[in-house]
Amino acid sequence: MTILAGAGISTGSGIPDFRGPDGVWTRDPEAAQLLEHSLYVVDADIRRRTWEMWRDSPVWRAEPTAAHRSLVDLERAGALRAICTQNFDGLHQRAGSAPGRVLELHGSLTGSRCLSCGRTEPTAGILARLDADPDPHCASCGGLLATDVVMFGEALPGGVFDAAIDAAAGCDVFVVVGSTLTVQPVASLTTVAAEAGARVVIVNAEPTPYDHLAERVERRPIQDALPDLVRELLAE
Ligand SMILES: [Zn+2]
Repeated sequence: MTILAGAGISTGSGIPDFRGPDGVWTRDPEAAQLLEHSLYVVDADIRRRTWEMWRDSPVWRAEPTAAHRSLVDLERAGALRAICTQNFDGLHQRAGSAPGRVLELHGSLTGSRCLSCGRTEPTAGILARLDADPDPHCASCGGLLATDVVMFGEALPGGVFDAAIDAAAGCDVFVVVGSTLTVQPVASLTTVAAEAGARVVIVNAEPTPYDHLAERVERRPIQDALPDLVRELLAE
């Protein structure tokens, strides 16, 4: 089984999604600018606001839920191929999923790097000195720093998307959970799985453009629906 997880799996952890009815960008469309790579590299004010957004992010206080833990059960039963996740909150790993099974398609908030020389450092350290240094630069070369979260206009992390395509094409069941399936190329993994013969199940509160490919669509809250679904699939 391969899982494609979106922001909806973490809303139960107190992390608002971006595009849902109560999403960060639904309520404040301008907030999406803070993740535009082309603006970030030229605009110090955008960078300051982006770093403040990361500092104030609920990700740092969030805990995994029963939905994340049900995917750990799936792995321990030997039934999980991979979790392809659009989330950068690290909650799958904190719930107990093996890091090697988690493909972070949109990167991670945990680490940061210099856009010039590639030097890496933990994001938490940069955030801790943000009051003194609101537009932080690289200690080695003076280049711009950014988190490892993939911004609009940036390529996905090398190799990760290829691994996700393999995981989608090579599974018997492909479960989409908490994704609106509106962001490409990630959403197209659903088509890859369906065309390779996988059964597709979609667990999402709102309709998605890929519902027609699914043999089953669940609209119930993810924290209830996903553990039930995992139990059911493991019993088959
Ligand atoms: Zn540097």
